Amino acid sequence: MRRPIAVTLLIVAGLVSGNVTTDRLQAQTGTVLYENARLIPGDGSPAIERSALLVEGGRIARVGRAGALAAPANCVRVDLAGKTLMPALIATHVHPGFQRGLTYVAANYTRDTVMADLSRALYFGVSTVQSMGIEPGEVLFQIRDDQRAGRAAGARLLVAGRGIGAPNAGPGGATYAGMAYEITTEAEARRSVAELAARKVDVVKIWVDDRNARAPKLSAPLYRAVIDEAHQRGLRVIAHVFYHTDAVDLVDAGIDAFAHLVRDVEMDDALVAAIVRKGVVVMGNLTTPMRPTHAGLPPWLTSGDPMMALLAASVPAPVIERMQAYFARRDPRQVEGARQRYGILQRSLAKLNRAGAKIVLGADTGLEDHVFGFAEHLELQAMVEAGLSPSQGIVAATSRGAEFLRLADTGSLTAGKRADFLVLDANPLDDITNTRRIARVFINGGAIDRQAIAARK
Ligand SMILES: [Zn+2]
Repeated sequence: MRRPIAVTLLIVAGLVSGNVTTDRLQAQTGTVLYENARLIPGDGSPAIERSALLVEGGRIARVGRAGALAAPANCVRVDLAGKTLMPALIATHVHPGFQRGLTYVAANYTRDTVMADLSRALYFGVSTVQSMGIEPGEVLFQIRDDQRAGRAAGARLLVAGRGIGAPNAGPGGATYAGMAYEITTEAEARRSVAELAARKVDVVKIWVDDRNARAPKLSAPLYRAVIDEAHQRGLRVIAHVFYHTDAVDLVDAGIDAFAHLVRDVEMDDALVAAIVRKGVVVMGNLTTPMRPTHAGLPPWLTSGDPMMALLAASVPAPVIERMQAYFARRDPRQVEGARQRYGILQRSLAKLNRAGAKIVLGADTGLEDHVFGFAEHLELQAMVEAGLSPSQGIVAATSRGAEFLRLADTGSLTAGKRADFLVLDANPLDDITNTRRIARVFINGGAIDRQAIAARK
């Protein structure tokens, strides 16, 4: 057996100038044949048990069976027998920049904090993240520009800008005060969208929620104006939603995606059918409501667990200790209530999946102690526990996410795509938590220097 070759790639990690981390990521320029691994394409087609993956100049040139794939005689060959390859994960709902160590405040929102989140995402095998509103200032726009110009690394960042809600009924939490547009007229709705369009946001985020009766919701005439204005400008609108009745009207109004499932009741058949018929994309966003369903420390936060190994390597110890401390002294009545509410979400997601709805992985990553990368792997597990097959979960977390984000160049291990993939030590089709057994992460054909990322935790 040939020894795996340390491919000469390509991250010059940790170039720090002033307080700006500028990891430089270059595409792999050579030609490499990865042989003998199990390969999960990520588009729903069956795994190839002894595969061959030919990467040229950072792109996938060909995929097939080991020994049956035409490859240039002079290419580098890497034997990956016993490993599993799958596309890198795509996270469609994140909020970078707020947590630094144990603090979670608006003042943390700097380039350094955001880049630390994006680097941690890469460490966990997440290639791409869609920020979902509450993005103050210029930071995310600058990072997106720099990434496109090859001047910054980290997971590829897409932005939504500030997002739009009714006064005091946008993003929950004092940390986010004043960050979203707060609109009360249709003219303001259209002006907000025009401003976001001028910034070339990737999506428009709206909040339709009364925040537990704290404030009047964004009204139907206003969100309809947002959707109309956005569509005229070629932008999609994604709704934070809570109530079933709002979801029904949002689908009718032409909403493109839901950033959450409805949380008051299980989705009824008519709503599910409308979502499927109109091609509305849905995120399960299960992991934050799943947390309080645990009466004690869950497996992924115990030592020896693969998730815990990833956390221990890349997240400061006090944060992990606080994540664990949450599960001490849980009130059984609160646990029971949380399980009832969570069951609603699980049943809705299962229903959507059976009906053939377009489900993507979105986990509200970046909320306090819901750290980048960790949240995605946990969400994938939660989606499978709710009823998706491991293969369906992987599709949602890879090719479907890329399609939703309009990224034609990534998301599956098929010819022509960027070579963005994970090398796993175990098969996630057997057990979805095996996505955490990460041996290596490749982006654009280049191996990510995960140890360098971990060293900066
Ligand atoms: Zn969110």
